[in-house]
Parts: sequence; structure tokens; C-alpha cells
Amino acid sequence: MKSCPTCSRRWYICCKVRAPNAEPLGEQLRGLRIESVCDCGDENCASFATAAEVKVDSVVELEALEGYLIIDLNPTNQICFIEVLGRQDVRYLLDEYYESLK
Ligand SMILES: [Zn+2]
Repeated sequence: MKSCPTCSRRWYICCKVRAPNAEPLGEQLRGLRIESVCDCGDENCASFATAAEVKVDSVVELEALEGYLIIDLNPTNQICFIEVLGRQDVRYLLDEYYESLK
């Protein structure tokens, strides 16, 4: 992925979509279901897909006290993937959730 031209982060963060899009996302976030967990194998990664098809068109970075929380939106502004990095607590919850399904 490209890095943001203004903040030079590893991920491309379009600062324009950040604020205006954050508001209606609250509603969507509450209705999300985990479709699949990221299988990149990075131990810092607790990302997951919330749609069967992940097609990222824009991203919204949320304020996180720790780590990174980035919401990926598809071309119709639906949340399709949530990037969670550097959050062992979230990782633990996901692992636990998956254990409980077995
Ligand atoms: Zn990953």
C-alpha cells in the first residue's frame, strides 16, 4: 500500500475522507460481523474482514489510545475490512472468539 503523502504513514490515509466519513460509520460499526480474520501471520496484526469481498476504496483512521485502528471502505462506502495493528488485547479477543466457535 502507498504511504500517505502528508503524514508518511505506512498506510495510505486520505485526510479528506477522515472527518466527514467518521460520523455515519458509527451506525455501520455496530452492525458489523466478522467475516474472516486476516491471515498475514504477523503477530501484531489483529485485522479482520467484515465483508465477503474486500475491495478497499478509501480508509478512515480512528483515534486509538494504543496501536492503529483503520477502517477500510469499499467503493460504496461500506466497511469491508478493519485494520487493527499493535493491539494484543484485540488479538486475544479474536483468538478467544474463534476458539469458542470450535
Ligand atoms: Zn494481518
